[in-house]
Amino acid sequence: MTENNAMAIHQYGQELSMETTRMAPLKRGYARVRIRANGVCATDVKLVDGVGFKPALPFVPGHEPSGIVEEMETDDPRYKDYIGKSFVISPHITCGECENCLSGRENICLNMVGSLGISINGAFAQYVDIPLKNLVEMPEGMDHSVAALAGGVVAVPLVAIRALGNLMEKNVVVLGSGGLALAAIQILNNLSAKVIVVGRKEEKLRVAKELGASVSINSTSGDYVKEIMEYTGGRGADNVIDLAGDPKEVPKLLSALKRGGTLSIVGYSSSQISLDYRRIALDAIQIRGSRSYTRNDLRLAVNLMKSGKVMPIISHKVPLESANNAISLVRNGSSIGRVVLEI
Ligand SMILES: [Zn+2]
Ligand SMILES: [Zn+2]
Repeated sequence: MTENNAMAIHQYGQELSMETTRMAPLKRGYARVRIRANGVCATDVKLVDGVGFKPALPFVPGHEPSGIVEEMETDDPRYKDYIGKSFVISPHITCGECENCLSGRENICLNMVGSLGISINGAFAQYVDIPLKNLVEMPEGMDHSVAALAGGVVAVPLVAIRALGNLMEKNVVVLGSGGLALAAIQILNNLSAKVIVVGRKEEKLRVAKELGASVSINSTSGDYVKEIMEYTGGRGADNVIDLAGDPKEVPKLLSALKRGGTLSIVGYSSSQISLDYRRIALDAIQIRGSRSYTRNDLRLAVNLMKSGKVMPIISHKVPLESANNAISLVRNGSSIGRVVLEI
């Protein structure tokens, strides 16, 4: 029986600690993947803190993994050469039958079986068992750490951006300058949008400009809504993508939108917000939530990375045993790009 070493949450608000478990026999249609890398994000910090998602403890986080198939339980010929190959893992185990699954929105499956690292034990571990259909092949020569970010860093903003329609020459505000924002800027550039990035750290904003943002605004040094208005000739931005999830900013983001504009919410917190009701109706403002991605989006993200159109930026590679350091680095938020566990 395979032994699995994992960094687990034993108590909310406390540090993770290593535990060794024996893995149950592999289920039919599943692969056992030897994890090589896993991206760490704000969702993991929320999990550790016990705010938002609260799975039963002990719990192993990790929803942004890549790895190598070591075993599988199938005689489906489509998977016959999977052993020994490298894959990115889509974390959502979906029903495949509901109207959302069948209409290409399995990321919001109505009967979600579970999500790796969110509701079922994830990839802060040597191994995970996952349905074979959740595996997306990695291109030859792609590094596991880079590939691990295809979902959480590239596919997440990709889904939100695609929902905004044609963005050619549109003014798009990106709130945030973390790993997601830096990928969002590259995607928006490919679509010929004019990107206005709003962040708090000068160093990150400089990188955002290097990656193609037209304007960068430091929100700590003045009124960013006024600056957006000036840049857009007083009309406001066509679209705003909130990757930061700071409830204080949402009313400001709405006031930075032009009439008929769309606010796309990707980042979130558990707080309530109050909004200008009248403006939403009279200026026909749209507010859209965007959650995660489908397996197809993950394929698309991998292809964009393969062609070099979007490259996630890695700030730190941290070994599994030091997962607590990885959590601190994300919590502290000062590094440019994403923290990745290497396993
Ligand atoms: Zn994530
Ligand atoms: Zn479903």
